[in-house]
Amino acid sequence: MHLMNSIDENLKRIQNSIPKGVTLVAVSKTKPVSDLLEAYNAGQRIFGENKIQEMTQKWEELPKDISWHMIGHVQTNKVKYMATFVDTIHAVDSLKLLKEISKQAIRNDRTINCFLQIKIAEEESKFGLSETDAINLLNSEEVALLKNVKITGLMGMATFTDNKEQIKKEFKSIQSLFKKLKVDHPILKSLSIGMSGDYQVAIDCGSTMIRIGSSIFGERDYSH
Ligand SMILES: *Cc1c(COP(=O)(O)O)cnc(C)c1O
Repeated sequence: MHLMNSIDENLKRIQNSIPKGVTLVAVSKTKPVSDLLEAYNAGQRIFGENKIQEMTQKWEELPKDISWHMIGHVQTNKVKYMATFVDTIHAVDSLKLLKEISKQAIRNDRTINCFLQIKIAEEESKFGLSETDAINLLNSEEVALLKNVKITGLMGMATFTDNKEQIKKEFKSIQSLFKKLKVDHPILKSLSIGMSGDYQVAIDCGSTMIRIGSSIFGERDYSH
């Protein structure tokens, strides 16, 4: 970690280390608005948050040309609170949630980008679709009929481990699913894999969107 560096320096270092086709989402969860503003002033326009209430508060306070990405698990009954402004929801894992996003997007006369979260980690994680469920969801007639939502990507989180080979294996599995699904669904443009600890591996595995928090803003403090 480069904790001694400023947010501005961290952003520039990361931007300079990633290929052109890779989009950087600055994960600002738990961080104060002043930190986001520092990143904004350094040119960053895409921010990721994992709690709807926190994201909404920050959206209210910050410039309106920011693109907000919800990267956390979303409860269906809370979609309405972010439907007026959210750009992309990364962790879509059910038809029920997609339907609600569509309903709220229509109500606000907007289109919301959705990524399907794929369960790739070996560890027991609560969220994410199996490959089969993702394929069935994408091919379902019900989804085809939904208006104002676009399924434009896949998202995955690797096992929390130092074992680079395991991380690579998991990222390779979502990369191959992504390639396979793109054939019939060319609207799939984004492969959202890679965080502070594993984004280099993710980029080697075809990531087009990395979600970086602590390497930009420093470690998160959950104590208060
Ligand atoms: C917190 C979080 C990140 C960023 O994690 P860092 O290790 O701080 O880069 C990325 N993706 C998701 C889904 C997260 O919850």
